[in-house]
Amino acid sequence: MEGAELLWLSSDLRVRVRAGREIELEALARAGETLADVSRRVCGRAEPLGLAPEGWVPVPMALVSDEMRALVLLHLFPEDRRDGEDWLHVARSGPLPTYGAGLWQVSAWFTGSGENFPRLMETNGLRFPELSPGQVIRIPGSLLHAAFRRPRSDDGSLEFASDERGPYAGYRLRAGEALYSAVVVRFTGRDSPEDVTRLAQELSTRSGIRDVTDIPVGYLIRIPLDLLEPEFLPKDHPRRREAESLRAEMARELARQPVASTRGGLKGVVVVLDPGHGGRDLGTMSNGIWEHDYVYDVTCRLKQRLERESAATVVLTLEDAHTGSVPSTGDALRANQQGTIQTTPPFLAREDGEAEIGVNLRWYLANSVYRRAVSNGGTPDRVVFLSLHADSRHAALRGAMVYVPGARYRKDSYSQTGKVYRRYQEVREQPEARFSHRDRVRSEAVSRKLADAILRAFRDRALPVQAHRPVRDRVVRGRRAWVPAVIRANAIPAKVLVELVNLSNPLDAKLLGAAGERERLADALFASLFHHFNEPVPASVEARRAAR
Ligand SMILES: [Zn+2]
Repeated sequence: MEGAELLWLSSDLRVRVRAGREIELEALARAGETLADVSRRVCGRAEPLGLAPEGWVPVPMALVSDEMRALVLLHLFPEDRRDGEDWLHVARSGPLPTYGAGLWQVSAWFTGSGENFPRLMETNGLRFPELSPGQVIRIPGSLLHAAFRRPRSDDGSLEFASDERGPYAGYRLRAGEALYSAVVVRFTGRDSPEDVTRLAQELSTRSGIRDVTDIPVGYLIRIPLDLLEPEFLPKDHPRRREAESLRAEMARELARQPVASTRGGLKGVVVVLDPGHGGRDLGTMSNGIWEHDYVYDVTCRLKQRLERESAATVVLTLEDAHTGSVPSTGDALRANQQGTIQTTPPFLAREDGEAEIGVNLRWYLANSVYRRAVSNGGTPDRVVFLSLHADSRHAALRGAMVYVPGARYRKDSYSQTGKVYRRYQEVREQPEARFSHRDRVRSEAVSRKLADAILRAFRDRALPVQAHRPVRDRVVRGRRAWVPAVIRANAIPAKVLVELVNLSNPLDAKLLGAAGERERLADALFASLFHHFNEPVPASVEARRAAR
């Protein structure tokens, strides 16, 4: 019978209920841990605890920390729930028998004092403190213990509190969730393997976790506020307010001047396609697939679609000097390293380290195309720039991710003054790119519209999309953040950098490695341009989607 009264939370934490009403948390002293260490771990401070047989330390509910109190009660009463400010407790509903508990115990557990029980009787209109199984007891927010009364994020998933190391947001892990994907990737915006691993370690240490494979469900993971993406911060946090005022400004901008529509079939639209990397630079490589040639093939397929099935004009920033822009015939591709930037004169990166020159020439070229399109009577909104890539994020992540030019992360002007650049007509035409505040706000707004259109087209075709925050306004690595150069100094308002897949993920790599799937990626990008300009997608595209 003794065994049946134990509820295991992890290999070193378990809950016991004595006499059907006395809850005790039992903590196993880990190797090298003193009783004072155990006390700090489960009580948050040094309490006089005693050692029980086999290293288990019993801790009465009155002594446990707020976080442990919530953890224990959430496990003991899984049907309990929040209701606005109040808490609803379902009496005698949990996995351990609590036959001896009445309103006094419920009051002690959830308000911190048994003496509040008459007020619970009053709130719930009860005449006796005895409880029956399944009876729902409302605990008013004003009486609720601090452990259940913390301010929460908008979606309710995070609770805000503070410890000796500063303010943090707490997330309670659910069954089956892993620290790196459910917490690090979701809330911090980090996705490179190094960052995810390092942050998972940092959060574990901060949260008192010794073994990341043995975290109790419901355990509170502490995330320092400076690591959170703005939308998860408390409402009054300066970074959140800044992000919201920018969002509002973008919405006003689009309301004042909506994205210009087209006259059917993308007529009058100029699409600048920028296949990432090329020449010496093959881009990232993983699972037998390297970035450049495979992404270039998607670009060529998209170009062909646009030229055959729309009225749009296509400009490539880079073209293979050997194969031209003809799509491949098979799955496997060769790396012939002849990708040449289409500037005047053309530029081919032959040496390691020349890739950066290529990146800058791409935006100079894009800006030159844009100037020409607009001076020929074109509408700024009808020029779009798509830079196509594939990256290597944490291997557990899948799918497309789109970078937009975050207005907050761009400067007023950009220029390259090196002698090497003066050879190129596009640089001499206009050596400096200048942006007003409104330019940057409008650009992020219209680029987000384009990014949403792309993700919609991917989802329509069941092509994978990154689960958390697939649209991002900057790249984050470690403590550094930046907008990729091809969309940072680029004057075309609607511009995105698309990571088509994550090559570190074997399924994603396999997808990009197959010619038929590259065709589907091109089709999705093709359809997305129609979505962006609020045009119906041509019947031919819809037919291909339905044929799958
Ligand atoms: Zn790339």
